[in-house]
Amino acid sequence: MAESSWRVAALSAAPGEKRFGSNEFTVDGKPYRLPMWLVNGARDGPTLAVTAGVHPAEYASIAAALQFGQTIDPAKVRGRIIVVPVMNLPAFTARSIYVCPLDGKNLNRVFPGDEKGTASEQIAAWVFANVIEAADYFVDMHGGDLIEALVPFTIFYKSGDPKVRDTSLEMAKAFGIPILVSSETQGGTYSSAAKAGIPAILTEAGGQGIWSKEDVRAHTDGLDRLLRHLKMTDGPPPAPVACALLSRFLWLRSDHDGFWYPAVAVGDQVKAGQELGAIKDWEGRVLQRAVAEADGRVLFIVSSLAINKTDPLLAVGA
Ligand SMILES: [Zn+2]
Repeated sequence: MAESSWRVAALSAAPGEKRFGSNEFTVDGKPYRLPMWLVNGARDGPTLAVTAGVHPAEYASIAAALQFGQTIDPAKVRGRIIVVPVMNLPAFTARSIYVCPLDGKNLNRVFPGDEKGTASEQIAAWVFANVIEAADYFVDMHGGDLIEALVPFTIFYKSGDPKVRDTSLEMAKAFGIPILVSSETQGGTYSSAAKAGIPAILTEAGGQGIWSKEDVRAHTDGLDRLLRHLKMTDGPPPAPVACALLSRFLWLRSDHDGFWYPAVAVGDQVKAGQELGAIKDWEGRVLQRAVAEADGRVLFIVSSLAINKTDPLLAVGA
């Protein structure tokens, strides 16, 4: 059994103790509050970091992180768990889509951050140094944003150390969402963690501001399965789930301000060259056709009629 109490910045938890509190640090010269649970297991084991609310309106994942933190019993845990249910609290209270209102940046594009950078970069730097780098394994939970529909899927970083990639893939399989996507997106929570040698996954379920029981459960069941996979809780290894492994994550973006008319639904199988939707102007003229680059499956679709130049429209996993 671990002898001493475990500390993450100003918070600590004794062995066998669960502690909820906030760490405070400075962002743009002002106090920034980051609520979290520290779950210091009664028995020794690895450290797992669980975060949500990087994108603050992805409510199924946030509700799942809250439920997980509220219910996890440290007496049953081998190792340590940090749970950060809402990383981007100013954006959560503002119900912001995609970005942090402090600087207009997407927090999931600026990791591992920069303590001398803009607000999002400062938040990322603190979380990276104090939460992610403190962990042996990392799960960042997401979903569709307020204007996004999606089918659940799990992303892991495809490049870098093959051992880290393989461990991340095993974590993704253990989580139990049946669509897996390997990605090379830079600046993400999971990709920055993987590049620092920490196996990591990013999970997606829910969207459009809805947090259905089913989508919350995709995340809470996933965490329960992952803990058993990592032998951080007792119980049988998670039952294998048949997974589709997609190696390309093809995003389409708008070249115009206008109106977005999707022609497919999330989960649809599409063919290379197929029209997936169109951007139209006020009088119904087509400004842009969104065309599939490859055969694959539609993983998310922006459901907003209003669309701005450079906005995502949808993504195909191939
Ligand atoms: Zn997200």
